[in-house]
Amino acid sequence: MDIITQEIKNNDQLIRVHGFQTGRLAIKQSAMTSQKPGMWSTLWSFKDKNFAEWLPVWCWVIEHPEGVFLIDTGLSSEVNQKNYFRKVDFVSRYYFEKQMKFDITQADEIDQQLTKVQLNSKAISKVILTHLHIDHVGGLPHFTNIPVLVNEREWQSKDGAFPVLFPSTFNPEIIRLSERFQTFDKAYYITKAQDVLMVETAGHTTGHTSVILKTNKGVLFFAGDLAYTQERFQQQKFSATTKSLQQSLLTCEKVKDLAQREKVVFLPSHDTQNGERLAALANL
Ligand SMILES: [Zn+2]
Repeated sequence: MDIITQEIKNNDQLIRVHGFQTGRLAIKQSAMTSQKPGMWSTLWSFKDKNFAEWLPVWCWVIEHPEGVFLIDTGLSSEVNQKNYFRKVDFVSRYYFEKQMKFDITQADEIDQQLTKVQLNSKAISKVILTHLHIDHVGGLPHFTNIPVLVNEREWQSKDGAFPVLFPSTFNPEIIRLSERFQTFDKAYYITKAQDVLMVETAGHTTGHTSVILKTNKGVLFFAGDLAYTQERFQQQKFSATTKSLQQSLLTCEKVKDLAQREKVVFLPSHDTQNGERLAALANL
């Protein structure tokens, strides 16, 4: 599976960004291109026999002078176990077992991939979750003694999340996003330098959050599932499981507004083009 590494000189400091592809997943074609997201569209997609293209599942590490930050934890290879979904409700179990496909081995999990860039689970200072869906929290068992930051609104709403699948040790640091960053009225600065921050990007889930790294070359926007890919962001295409289409569209406007003021490298969790886009940062 792919690993991307990009070094960024920011003033006098060196920041290293790594992208790790922790497996792939696929959902039904009609669930990908739903006109009206919601439960009915999800149920309707069960009739569809065709899966859409495989989507990579990215998570990210920022090696920063103030710490090593992991954004999302990817898939767990335990999804391959026959009874992994036994604890979730009947319809959701059917969805995960029959309406989704996963491609992940133990070697693809985030803990093993970190070692390929001379890091390991213990080197992580903080984990930041964009939201609580299974392909973003799957690697949490590898980070039991490390603070895990979750937006308070995401923790309260838990849209499409399955707490029965969370590790029993999961005790996140709940973050209230009470600061501001440009057009984003819910933000939280993680670093003292105020260059790594969480911004609420609601829509996919009620408390969906993106992570921003500000550099003197431009803004790296770790977009989670705000849209699955940049192309889908531009076409305003959202999946059937989107919590609020209206919120998603409002969030897109905020990102577009930011992109008019600054150079933005948009890095969604399921985009095959992330490597090229990140590499292009060097030429900005
Ligand atoms: Zn999601």
